[in-house]
Amino acid sequence: MQVRLFPNAALKTRAEPVTTEDIRGEWFRPLISEMFKTMYRDGGVGLAAPQVGISKRLLVLNDGGRLMHGSRAMVLINPEIIYIEGTQIDEEGCLSLPGIFLPIERTNKIGVRYIDTTGNICNIEADGFLSRIIQHEVDHLDGILFFERASKEVLDYYSKNLDGLKKRVDQMRFRDAYIKRRKSEIQARARKAKLKAKRKKRNGNNG
Ligand code: ZN
Repeated sequence: MQVRLFPNAALKTRAEPVTTEDIRGEWFRPLISEMFKTMYRDGGVGLAAPQVGISKRLLVLNDGGRLMHGSRAMVLINPEIIYIEGTQIDEEGCLSLPGIFLPIERTNKIGVRYIDTTGNICNIEADGFLSRIIQHEVDHLDGILFFERASKEVLDYYSKNLDGLKKRVDQMRFRDAYIKRRKSEIQARARKAKLKAKRKKRNGNNG
């Protein structure tokens, strides 16, 4: 699974609610496990379905990354922030804007109502980092990217304008395309070598 990079249109679209039918769908659980895999592979702590091109109100998170003790892996379906309290400022990044970190002011404490993978309605309270992750991912479901939450001063200081961010992401995309091309070259060579070996073996048997 590839994470869509800014300025991909999937990141700017408001996602559709997950239906009961979706939850019962054969594709639903595999999608969640693929999303976790992708998030861990890319070193993220949260991933929203629109980031992998699925326009559904679904997100996965683990506030400690995969390996940290006491971290929580969670799946939030149709999450709604139902109350907010206080503020916090911390540096924030996004798998869809690799390499860019900006200080972002967020609400500190939040109450969230969501549906879990068995279809039950749940309520949780979160603060600090976990609260920040949920707010960032819920924003993705609404087509909002984290730099849009940055103050004008922060944006001016860090990037002058959004073209700076776009250029950075284009460089990343160029690198990814290069790795992909190299991979397929190596695979093609391996296939050819295998075929050659097979042919050799067959000829050997004949002779
Ligand atoms: Zn993000």
